[in-house]
Amino acid sequence: MPDDCLFCRIAAGVTDAHLVLKDEHVVGFLDVRPVFKGHVLVVPRQHVVTLADLPDGLMVPLLGAVKRVGNAIISGLGAQGTFVAMNNVVSQSVAHLHVHVVPRTKGDGLRGFFWPRTKYAEGEAEQCALTIREALQH
Ligand code: AMP
Repeated sequence: MPDDCLFCRIAAGVTDAHLVLKDEHVVGFLDVRPVFKGHVLVVPRQHVVTLADLPDGLMVPLLGAVKRVGNAIISGLGAQGTFVAMNNVVSQSVAHLHVHVVPRTKGDGLRGFFWPRTKYAEGEAEQCALTIREALQH
């Protein structure tokens, strides 16, 4: 565990947080600056920085915990749904992988502020999909 990693320290119980879930592989705790109350961060105990670094064996434990927390936010807090997100490198302010699980309710005012949409020019979508398909072969 890197001593200077905030989320390693929370996972180890060295730094305080409002824990909602802990098991062998992951912990979940309240985001200190929530988008909405009940906003949870789910993190692997193992120090990995981005999704690309996550060992295959931790994918099910991590996403399983995200699913359980999402269900609990709905059943416990009365949210209608959830928004699940992860910043990797860009906009990632803590260099320890974390999944945001944010309670959502219709009319809550979250209007996709960081999802500016664009359009493909003629033929551009085909080329873009082809590039990704080719990259997936490697
Ligand atoms: P991101 O910007 O996607 O890397 O998200 C990092 C999140 O960590 C932010 O939403 C912060 O509010 C949250 N955060 C930072 N410090 C703490 C802390 N000590 N306890 C809980 N959440 C934190």
